[in-house]
Amino acid sequence: HNHIDFATPEKVKAAIAADDTHAHIPDYQALDAYVADGGYVALKDLRAVGNWEDVQAKIKESGLRGLGGAGFPSGTKWGFVRANEGPRYLAVNGDEGEPGTFKDRYYLERTPHLFLEGMLIAAWAVEAEKAFIYMRDEYPAVLHILAEEIKALEAAGIVEQGYIDLRRGAGAYICGEESAMIESIEGKRGIPRHRPPFVAQVGIFNRPTLVHNVETLYWVAKVCREGPECLNTTEKNERKGLRSYSVSGRVKNPGVYLLPAGSTITDIIEACGGMAEVHTFKAYQPGGPSSGLLPASIDDVPLDFDTLQPLGTFIGSAAVVVLSDKDSAKAAALNMLRFFEDESCGQCTPCRVGCEKAVKLMDKDRWDQELLGELCTAMADASICGLGQAAPNPIRSTIKYFPDEI
Ligand code: SF4
Repeated sequence: HNHIDFATPEKVKAAIAADDTHAHIPDYQALDAYVADGGYVALKDLRAVGNWEDVQAKIKESGLRGLGGAGFPSGTKWGFVRANEGPRYLAVNGDEGEPGTFKDRYYLERTPHLFLEGMLIAAWAVEAEKAFIYMRDEYPAVLHILAEEIKALEAAGIVEQGYIDLRRGAGAYICGEESAMIESIEGKRGIPRHRPPFVAQVGIFNRPTLVHNVETLYWVAKVCREGPECLNTTEKNERKGLRSYSVSGRVKNPGVYLLPAGSTITDIIEACGGMAEVHTFKAYQPGGPSSGLLPASIDDVPLDFDTLQPLGTFIGSAAVVVLSDKDSAKAAALNMLRFFEDESCGQCTPCRVGCEKAVKLMDKDRWDQELLGELCTAMADASICGLGQAAPNPIRSTIKYFPDEI
């Protein structure tokens, strides 16, 4: 859809109607229906008589953590941003480029106003002068929905004209890294910044910036509307809360599943109706390619923040990809490294050269484990950002759990 002119919602609509985008606009809850269902009451009340610290306490009580992958406690983040003198900005990370992740799209294509209200509540809480939405360009339907609904919010007087700035990404995975996203919003090439300073201190155009993922803001609205109980009452395997798992691969019904945060891979496969026919469960990626692969034998660990650390991996954005006996772990790992090689921003040598070298070493009948091990250490220790630091994970996990294949 690159040839499509996104200049105005009308042009996007016309392109979609002509089927140029191959996009289909799903039935979603538009502004009127959302307002009829009690939408924007929470925001209006807060703007009228709210105290941001009360809302922060509610968010903290709910246990909400950043759902883009980092899992940073959301309420605490508001405090960090507010600790820096204004004017401040808010930026929404809607880049959703992690392979296997599609939960943000799922929510945006159904209930966009839960996200928009959550965003406006967070913007109110940190007194943001402007809110930027950095949206994945590969989601034409979402761009269309947001453009339409932002216009409706402006017409209804819920938000000032131009307060929300909807920006399109340009397909670079690295622009999902928050500081690279900020560079891109500023109109520069998207490359990660060194930290400190953190974006909460020095963000968009050097101003303190609150960065949240789309789904995190969806939950901010839910917590404000329904109370912290909508998140913190679910308990399973000693974990509290809910997670939106994007599940794909060899399962019967791939999709987004909202399950207890203490769910294991067995629970997740079961929620998907089991394995696809003639496929036997062999391995899984718990949270995007950066998390590497786990074998089917590790089936009793809750897939949540912190729980996978002892296994050298993490849940990230909860992009679960299920592999079967018909798949090769070695080929999957090579595919992941090819992705990182393509998507490395090239700023630092350990990642730029390391990914390329790793692909060459992995694309052989036998892996040179010693050399790959050294390369992994250099990449993990010396890369600037999470891409290069985590790129060795698929290599390490394949060596550890699937030694017969390499
Ligand atoms: Fe760029 Fe990779 Fe370095 Fe990150 S680790 S800054 S993606 S070259």
